[in-house]
Amino acid sequence: MKKRILVTGGAGFIGSHLCTRLLNEGNEVISLDNYFTGSKKNIVHLLDNPYFEMIRHDVTEPFFIEVDEIYNLACPASPVHYQYNPIKTMKTSVMGAINMLGLAKRVNAKVFQASTSEVYGDPAEHPQRESYWGNVNPIGIRSCYDEGKRAAETLFMDYHNQNNVDVKIVRIFNTYGPNMNPEDGRVVSNFIVQALKGEDITIFGDGQQTRSFQYVDDLVEGFIRLMDTPKGFTGPVNIGNPYEFTMLELAKNVIELTGSSSKLTFMPLPQDDPKQRQPDISLAKKELDWEPKVQLREGLVKTIAYFDTLLREENKIA
Ligand code: NAD
Ligand code: UDP
Repeated sequence: MKKRILVTGGAGFIGSHLCTRLLNEGNEVISLDNYFTGSKKNIVHLLDNPYFEMIRHDVTEPFFIEVDEIYNLACPASPVHYQYNPIKTMKTSVMGAINMLGLAKRVNAKVFQASTSEVYGDPAEHPQRESYWGNVNPIGIRSCYDEGKRAAETLFMDYHNQNNVDVKIVRIFNTYGPNMNPEDGRVVSNFIVQALKGEDITIFGDGQQTRSFQYVDDLVEGFIRLMDTPKGFTGPVNIGNPYEFTMLELAKNVIELTGSSSKLTFMPLPQDDPKQRQPDISLAKKELDWEPKVQLREGLVKTIAYFDTLLREENKIA
């Protein structure tokens, strides 16, 4: 059955993949975005589909529309961007959640929150299960994002418990793929762009900190499965790839796959940078029958091809 679906942050990296997938499944999709970190370029080709609309709007302002489902993704996700205006980041998470929950309540829509592994902070439990409460600095440079997302989770659960709103919460672990903003500042896009330009690869700290990266298609599959769960199943559910590696290993893979002559350069580790992060995905396996399918090198090859084309189009590489 065709559904009408609102995607906030629809012009962003993940949002653009989600809009595409939802349209391909025969739904009507409305992207709402203020284009702070997203780009029309990511979704403008979808306008060929008469069931797609792009709306410029800020999620901190109320929005009225009749929809069946809402995916709330609007929020800058990379540290460089969310720290640019931390007050706005917090407002986006908190007021954005309130506005989307209010809308869902009014029109009786299902509403989905893109939360984050950052709610675990610099985790004292490894790997992280959904039952872990986290280790977050409330007054550090990452707090606007971490605490904003934590407050949003609280609001989602409170609207569910108090007003019976059908909510779904996903905790996304580091994700990469085509349509990432080359200026995004996150590690995969930084390393690939640097390698393609033949610039030094910037390793923060000693490069021994770990992350677990999933390819965006795996994540979107997890979103759809979570949205399709029966009312009452709220999550939060971790969606991520448990395959964990150091930033040094990532740099080596990127250099090898691009055939670049880039060298490594070491820079200070940012404040509150988590030392390790790895999802426990038992819940997603059990409840959603979900697990990631795309291996790191396979996903890197696709992402490198995307950035290679983009940088050539922009005459940034020959
Ligand atoms: P992104 O920056 O590419 O996308 C975010 C989108 O939200 C952009 O298009 C931006 O313009 C839009 N936006 C920001 N503030 C807004 C506002 N006030 N009103 C309307 N639109 C606004 O980032 P992404 O990686 O696609 O992340 C999407 C969501 O997933 C975010 O909520 C992020 O916190 C979450 N997430 C992402 C990752 C990841 O690894 N990519 C990990 C954890 C959580
Ligand atoms: N990082 C790095 N070089 C970069 C960008 C990031 O070494 O050019 C490191 C960063 O310090 C962190 C890891 O890579 O330890 C992942 O950073 P990212 O910003 O992608 O995600 P997050 O810290 O939010 O997990």
